[in-house]
Amino acid sequence: MKKLIIILLLTSVAFAQKGRIKVSFVAPKSEISRAVHQAFVTDKTNGIQVLMDVISGEFKLPRNMDVVFAETGVVNAWYDPEHHAVVMAYDFVEFMIKDAVQNKANQQEAIEYATGAILFTLMHEMGHALIGEMDVPVVGREEDAADEFATMILLDCGPQGHQILGATMDWFYAMSRNQKDLVFWDEHSLDQQRLYNILLLMYGHSPDAYGQLVSSVVPKNRMAKALHEYKIKEHRWDKLLKPYLQHPQ
Ligand SMILES: [Zn+2]
Repeated sequence: MKKLIIILLLTSVAFAQKGRIKVSFVAPKSEISRAVHQAFVTDKTNGIQVLMDVISGEFKLPRNMDVVFAETGVVNAWYDPEHHAVVMAYDFVEFMIKDAVQNKANQQEAIEYATGAILFTLMHEMGHALIGEMDVPVVGREEDAADEFATMILLDCGPQGHQILGATMDWFYAMSRNQKDLVFWDEHSLDQQRLYNILLLMYGHSPDAYGQLVSSVVPKNRMAKALHEYKIKEHRWDKLLKPYLQHPQ
């Protein structure tokens, strides 16, 4: 009996706990999306939910949130503040898979490319969601802040995080080559700038690992500034997010 009461108490505490991020996969209609849906729901590692559990364990979210994979008719992903949710369209996942199959030399490369772009996009949207839900006073362009948030988190996620960032740069490069007009008025930076912002953050985080690569595409004086910038950015993000952490150090 005592055991049962403890279980009931623990259950009610779990239900009362605010700030869980629940991942769900809405069954789609189109055939390829159904295949994607099937792959997600049969993924025994439950990787996306595990990643979201890490985030909700880290931050003091004021309420529960959702990450919803659904067929939407648009190739996109977005944060919906009204419903406290990040929507990841199967249409976008499908688009990335087709792009990867068409443009990558083999299955392994295609999987890394598509998975990387999808997970970076999810982390970028989580950046918007955390800024919105916790009312983080970000100044400057929020799109750049969301990219930077995603990059800084992934840089601390070991080789897998770095692989996702590599795939994301590859994706931005591909998009920049297909771009006919430079959309200066867009809320996002240009794809080329988004690529170089990530690359220079990676260099600032791990100069030994990326120095040679970066020196082939970025002038020396910019590289020196990027090293200094990374330390400042790391300090500022730590300071900015400290009040929102579950366990500030
Ligand atoms: Zn965005």
